[in-house]
Amino acid sequence: MGILIQDGTVYDGSGSPPIEADILIEGERIAAMGARLTAHGAAPRATINARGRVVCPGFIDIHRHADVAMFTSAGFGETELAQGITSVVVGNCGIAPVPGAGLARAEYYRYIEPVVGHIAAGLPFADYAVYAGALERACLPLNVGFLAAGGAIKTAVKGFAKTPFSAAEMRDAVAYIEQAKEHGALGLSFGIMYQPECYSSREELTALARVAGDGILCTHIRGEGDSLVSSIEEMLDVAFNAGVPLNISHFKASGVRNWRNAIYRAIERIEAARNAGQRVGADFYPYDGGSTTILSLIPPSVLEESTVALVQKLGTSAGRETLRQEFRKSHAGWDNMAASIGWERVIISSVINPECAGYCGKSMKQIACENGCGEPLDLLCDLVVSEEGQVGIIVLSMAQEDIDEVARLPWTALISDALYGGGVHPHPRLHGAFPRFLREYVRERKVLTMEQAIHKMTLMGAERLGIRDRGVLRVGAYADVLVFDPACFVDRAGYQHPAQMAVGMETVILNGNLLSPNDINRAKAGQMIFRSS
Ligand SMILES: [Zn+2]
Repeated sequence: MGILIQDGTVYDGSGSPPIEADILIEGERIAAMGARLTAHGAAPRATINARGRVVCPGFIDIHRHADVAMFTSAGFGETELAQGITSVVVGNCGIAPVPGAGLARAEYYRYIEPVVGHIAAGLPFADYAVYAGALERACLPLNVGFLAAGGAIKTAVKGFAKTPFSAAEMRDAVAYIEQAKEHGALGLSFGIMYQPECYSSREELTALARVAGDGILCTHIRGEGDSLVSSIEEMLDVAFNAGVPLNISHFKASGVRNWRNAIYRAIERIEAARNAGQRVGADFYPYDGGSTTILSLIPPSVLEESTVALVQKLGTSAGRETLRQEFRKSHAGWDNMAASIGWERVIISSVINPECAGYCGKSMKQIACENGCGEPLDLLCDLVVSEEGQVGIIVLSMAQEDIDEVARLPWTALISDALYGGGVHPHPRLHGAFPRFLREYVRERKVLTMEQAIHKMTLMGAERLGIRDRGVLRVGAYADVLVFDPACFVDRAGYQHPAQMAVGMETVILNGNLLSPNDINRAKAGQMIFRSS
């Protein structure tokens, strides 16, 4: 009794050209692959005719901010499985709701809600023991692995303070990372562009990274614009000295003046490190717009140790004047995104007050003009105050040529970097990143072959993060398998209409469970993904 997939064009995830083959699944694993298979013994439970179809491993999104949505959203799994995503990794960019400890917890949760969505009281985020237990009991619709998140740990230990760790605080932070590893974390993430990690020194980052041991270090680097190259160098140095494998998250060059030059210099640095034997790779998402919070437009010298304090400050004319002055200066290690791309390329994507909902989908320049509120910088202050800092933005900050260059590199994995705090106007990558990559980068623009693209969506990420027996079709691997017609499997989400699900995925098999399209979310066939040593 098993599932037999017949006559498909099989891409095994390794990047090799496809073969025509049958696949037999028994239990949760692949039992056989080859020409004209029949089920062992009894007739198969299901036979899938895959003639003319792509058969490939379930996609692995190693960077998806579903940390909270997977516990709270009734529909979680639907948009992911519609895109063929069968495994996700959470805890990226230093951001996670766990460990939810310390006096600054409420403040920190407010800070990350644009990324992860609303964090209700009572969720199982106190520490990694509670969290891992809850994940195992949760019966999730997808496979889930997690990273220990440096920003969450730092905030739990010492709030948003701008000072380095004391020896005692460092011990507490290390203990959290150790606890996360003990409960199956795939590695550690940093979000050095964000508070409070932007105040971390190289020494502090290195000391923390060392604790990750053989686990991966995934980093949202300090700057992706004017400071891209120095930020890459910083992380190469940290990972080298800590002796950990490194993955640069959402690798890109932001800001018009950096287009078509900074990315090449950054690639050179990474390839030099790789050639010298350092274990380093990167990931990217297939859009020219990024997604972040409005607070990242504010110079660090203006930010306060709490959003409440910042809101108070920007509510005063003195505070606004300080912002205006600091905005004109250059700040080491901080990229002035709004200045470098222009306010017309900064799109509001989420707000909390219904009166401001009409701003979503419009640029800050356009809103400032329509409101007659003068400078976009004043609008920025108004929004931080009225929305208490919780405003999501899309920044059209990248050049397509750069993205294509990154996509072609043999060491870049595809991710969505999907955010779940965007309400009805999320970044389109939430619903479309994976099918978009195949539609646009393979079928339409032919940047990559199908086998190269599928490799970036499956085995490359699995190998980098130490995820064993997934992302590949071979005997003995977990049966996470997709069947689709590449001409029909497409994304429909764009910047204007982002909340559109992908269409055209015909068959999803998750851990050997054939998910029917109507019941896709109720099967709850996901498993925890732990690091394999
Ligand atoms: Zn990030």
